[in-house]
Amino acid sequence: MIAEVIVDIAHSDVDKIFDYDCLDKNVQVGSRVVVPFGSMKIEGVVIGLKDKSEFESSRLKSIVRIIDETPAICEEGIALMRFMCDKYHIPCALALRQFLPSEMRKGKVRVKLIRFAKITDDIDVFEIINSLPSNAKAQKAVLEYLSDGKMVKVAELNKEFSPSAVNKLTELGFINITEARENRSPYEEMTGSRKEVTLTDGQIAAIESVNSTDKTVTLIHGVTGSGKTEVYLRLIKQAVDQSKTAILLVPEISLTPQMLTQLRATFKDNAAIIHSGLSAGERFDEWWRLRSGEAKICIGARSAIFAPLENLGVIIIDEEHDGSYVSESSPRYDTKDIALFRAEYNGCKLVLGSATPSVATYKLAEDGEYNLVNMPNRINKKPLPEMIIADMRTEIRRGNNSPFSSALQEELQKCIEAGNQAIIFLNRRGYSRHIVCRECGYVAKCENCDVALNYHVVGDVLKCHYCGANYKLLPACPDCGSIHINYVGVGTQKIVEELKKLLPTARILRMDNDTTRSKEGHFNIISQFAEHKADILVGTQMIAKGHDFPAVTLVGVLDADMSLFFSDFRSGERTFQLLTQVAGRSGRADQKGVVVLQTYQPDNAILRYATHYDYKGFYERENMLRKTTCYPPYATIVRVMIESENDELALEALRSIHEELVVYYDKNREKFLFYNKMKSPIKRLKNKYRYQVLMRVKQGADDVIDKIYQIALPKTTNKVLVYVELNPSSLN
Ligand code: ADP
Ligand code: ZN
Ligand code: ZN
Repeated sequence: MIAEVIVDIAHSDVDKIFDYDCLDKNVQVGSRVVVPFGSMKIEGVVIGLKDKSEFESSRLKSIVRIIDETPAICEEGIALMRFMCDKYHIPCALALRQFLPSEMRKGKVRVKLIRFAKITDDIDVFEIINSLPSNAKAQKAVLEYLSDGKMVKVAELNKEFSPSAVNKLTELGFINITEARENRSPYEEMTGSRKEVTLTDGQIAAIESVNSTDKTVTLIHGVTGSGKTEVYLRLIKQAVDQSKTAILLVPEISLTPQMLTQLRATFKDNAAIIHSGLSAGERFDEWWRLRSGEAKICIGARSAIFAPLENLGVIIIDEEHDGSYVSESSPRYDTKDIALFRAEYNGCKLVLGSATPSVATYKLAEDGEYNLVNMPNRINKKPLPEMIIADMRTEIRRGNNSPFSSALQEELQKCIEAGNQAIIFLNRRGYSRHIVCRECGYVAKCENCDVALNYHVVGDVLKCHYCGANYKLLPACPDCGSIHINYVGVGTQKIVEELKKLLPTARILRMDNDTTRSKEGHFNIISQFAEHKADILVGTQMIAKGHDFPAVTLVGVLDADMSLFFSDFRSGERTFQLLTQVAGRSGRADQKGVVVLQTYQPDNAILRYATHYDYKGFYERENMLRKTTCYPPYATIVRVMIESENDELALEALRSIHEELVVYYDKNREKFLFYNKMKSPIKRLKNKYRYQVLMRVKQGADDVIDKIYQIALPKTTNKVLVYVELNPSSLN
């Protein structure tokens, strides 16, 4: 037998299939193997088997050994690898790495074996207990404890009784010690019961529609609180009942303790949960539980789409519009592409759910490509919270210089007095204040990144948010010497200070990237707030999604139009989604909710649609706009990025890519809407110079995109990184 092997080196130079002789080894497709490669021995994955190689058998090297008994990658994984390589032009080895926990490569994670004790077979425990001397109390207790024949961790017995008793009993042959694998299961302690609910008509209709449609993809467009989660859980249960498996994807940020507890309570050990907070060991063990078939459901953020499950019965992507489903670092991929491939491969359904579907997804549903399900009502017909627009221009005219409008101040007072909770949301991060000279306009910038620095109260430093560099505070402007060098903008810390002045007795929590840097930070803040240990939660984007805080009756959005200023074609869409999500945090239980949106543009169309919960109105306008201006989904934005620490080499690569591309562009102008080569808006980032060729390509011109990849990617060298982005979320 000859094995076709992809070696674990993600470099285009070795992105080939290599033939190896299997000798007498039982090699299977998907097996990881060790093979000789040049002068080294490295790991690889067998992606095919054949009887004969085109190479002379004397020149073929042989497989050294097989790494795992069960092939690590199933056949679907191999097919998916080919799909990803074709679509995203990435090396096979890089695609394969997505299927394995990174800790598994190079044998870094070992299976954790622990010792279990059990009563020796065929002995009469009680007879032995009686035969022991009366002072051997601990030994008797151990035997009694084990008398029903269960397996118990030795460590537990040692702790509960005494190590000497356990040793003695082992010596006497009354108990038997075996080693077995322990799964380091995260959230083991998170159990609880779930109340069974009777499905509403809307939920039943949604499930039936997913089941009966002949389309692979169903979009569930349901307002926040319409009971989509329950629909997902039933669809998963249905798959499991049919002996199939399921994947549920949620944005990383919504994997809250509440959600995890609910999932654990529903599916017990049948679900494996994968997210970035797991330790290497936990991740490996969860992966293994899925691969071995012990767990049938995988729940997680983006990377969980690669779960090693066979025989999928349903794939669900919650909050399908969320930006985190698109990977923006190598390998760049769109989770929905992968999900659709897997759904089609398994002949199962793909369900996308959102209160604010992305324009691209909704268009596919409107065009009839996807099955569309509407869930327009909240459970129990609870009203959506009332939205109040506060015009900040009139506030300033009235002399109100605080970050809170009078409407918000009033609502805050009422809310806290009534013993309810409030969330204050702002679009920015940290104590992010730029330093600007009021005399000459000088802005303090990072030396590596060419972006404005932010002042952080903690440590009293200037910080670069892109590379993390710290700078000392400036006593005077380095350009003109003026001492009127000042801060602009406010951040979460400042807001907390202002709130304390306004409501001295209120208990306030802050959540942003600074307070949640540790693994538990995020969970801690969320659980404290959920347990009503604070009255007000102040935070950025990360408090917008998913959380269910029943006592929250007020949400204040301090800068509702901030995201409209971003130079991104999706900023309108993002703003609408964000406002709807944030508003959805208010009034989830019995009490009516209120939302105050503060803005300098009260007449903005996006804000108007958001305040009326008019997704359809928003969509029609946005869709028309994209169509007339030729933006996605009516076109694809393609950016070829060139990065290097050496400016000249980067520029040279840009020139050579442009020379080739522009020839192609000239011959195919009818397929392009825009073409330009230039410096990237952030000319330097993390010490690298950045250049780009920015293009907009007409819809359906996939051949053009393939060609761009083919021209650009080979220009990568050791010193210059070249990559291609499709509809990137930021054009920094
Ligand atoms: P969504 O995911 O659409 O925002 P959820 O699934 O979170 O909505 O449901 C909102 C609330 O309604 C939750 O507290 C949930 O437990 C509850 N709920 C869902 N379905 C039902 C039902 N059929 N009967 C009663 N309560 C329900
Ligand atoms: Zn100055
Ligand atoms: Zn920097």
